[in-house]
Amino acid sequence: MSYTLINPATEESMETIEHLDARQTDEAIEKAVKAQEKWAALAPGDRAMLLRRFASAVDADNENLAQLEVRNSGHPIDQARYEANNVRDVLNYYAGAPERLVGKQIPVAGGIAVTFHEPIGVVGMITPWNYPMPIAGWGMAPALAAGNAVVLKPAEWTPLTSMRLAELGLEAGLPENLFQVLNGKGTVVGERLVTNEKVGKIVFTGSTSVGKHIMRGAADQIKRVTLELGGKSANIIFEDADVVKAATTAPYAVFENAGQDCCARSRILVQRSVYDKFMEALEPVVKAVKVGDPSLSGTEVGPLVSKAHRENVSSFLDGADVAFQGSAPTGKGFWFAPTVVLAKSPSDRCMAEEIFGPVVTVYPFETEAEAIELANGTEYGLSGSIWTRDLGRGIRVSRAVQSGNLAVNSHSSLRYTTPFGGMKQSGMGRELGPDAPLHFTEEKVVFFNSNS
Ligand code: NAD
Repeated sequence: MSYTLINPATEESMETIEHLDARQTDEAIEKAVKAQEKWAALAPGDRAMLLRRFASAVDADNENLAQLEVRNSGHPIDQARYEANNVRDVLNYYAGAPERLVGKQIPVAGGIAVTFHEPIGVVGMITPWNYPMPIAGWGMAPALAAGNAVVLKPAEWTPLTSMRLAELGLEAGLPENLFQVLNGKGTVVGERLVTNEKVGKIVFTGSTSVGKHIMRGAADQIKRVTLELGGKSANIIFEDADVVKAATTAPYAVFENAGQDCCARSRILVQRSVYDKFMEALEPVVKAVKVGDPSLSGTEVGPLVSKAHRENVSSFLDGADVAFQGSAPTGKGFWFAPTVVLAKSPSDRCMAEEIFGPVVTVYPFETEAEAIELANGTEYGLSGSIWTRDLGRGIRVSRAVQSGNLAVNSHSSLRYTTPFGGMKQSGMGRELGPDAPLHFTEEKVVFFNSNS
């Protein structure tokens, strides 16, 4: 089986990628088992050094990686360079972990009890098409740092940067087969990662429906899972906020990456007393968003990833009350103009479902309690922003909103140095932050009898 990639900005056919079958997936997992044994036997300092070399190799390849993402995913070049740098930084950050995976010595009678953080073994990663590079790094770097091998299945549409990262790991001196990229269909290679007993953990990022399926499959072997799933995050603007600042930054909290962002603040909730002021300040910024050729520096938003995805995003505008739209190129490419929709009710499709495109829905509220109820009125709980100058309100509302990652008077809630993940049906477990390597280990306790 093979699959031909399409450049989303030009609709031109690109590389044809060979897809693996279940038997080839098993063979790759077998090789990963052996590579992990070698890796875990290395001194912690040597593993740290190799991860730093991997980071340097990614750094040296930044422009090439970024250009691959522009062609394969339509990401604007400035954003793609940032994403490649993110992989470098995440590798460097977790390169500190092999020498810091410290256990505890616990006081007990008759001897000593010591804890160890043992690697799980082989970790299977299944990634989506929206941010192929950062998401690969967020799982792969801490998993390797904790002494595991990683087999990564990228999304069918966007494998190129993941494939290049695996080459760079090898060039940097990682043991052969320690970090492998297995191209193939979710229903073939992805499924096999879940069912193969030699894979000890699955890190899945993607839709909530596939996440549920993976969790069910993992139950058969009590396989560990981390799930990073969908979102429908709220951007809440109170009347005491810097309303103009909230309005002028709101487009960049939802239209980045053409809205193909699990953390997109795709529901704007505005207190009714400042609704008109907010909308007036929002409109010119939405209309000024630079949508265009992703290969040009300065482009802010590229095309959607595929024709099928654009059709799905377009379907949300059927019967919707569009307040205003920005502009996008016409002709070849899967373009979609940034769009602001007004909701009539919280149950409107645009308010309730993840669109994963450059469409944001605005809805007014009266009171703090109503804002919290609206924000929480979704099955998701990934991200969000709260705009208020009232410190007490900032504390109350951020504690009451059921989301894993929030920002007050900012949209910046995702950093590799802090934990990231969702509440409710946005996921299970956390990635990133100082504890991420521990999520790729099993804690073991050993009692040493001092009276033997
Ligand atoms: P998707 O669920 O369709 O696919 C994700 C991955 O799962 C792909 O690699 C796909 O091949 C694979 N897959 C599909 N069926 C499978 C199966 N039966 N078994 C195993 N693997 C299978 O998601 P997508 O369309 O690629 O990505 C968009 C979704 O990802 C959105 O819902 C978005 O919110 C979510 N997402 C979440 C985060 C987060 O961190 N929470 C980050 C990025 C994207």
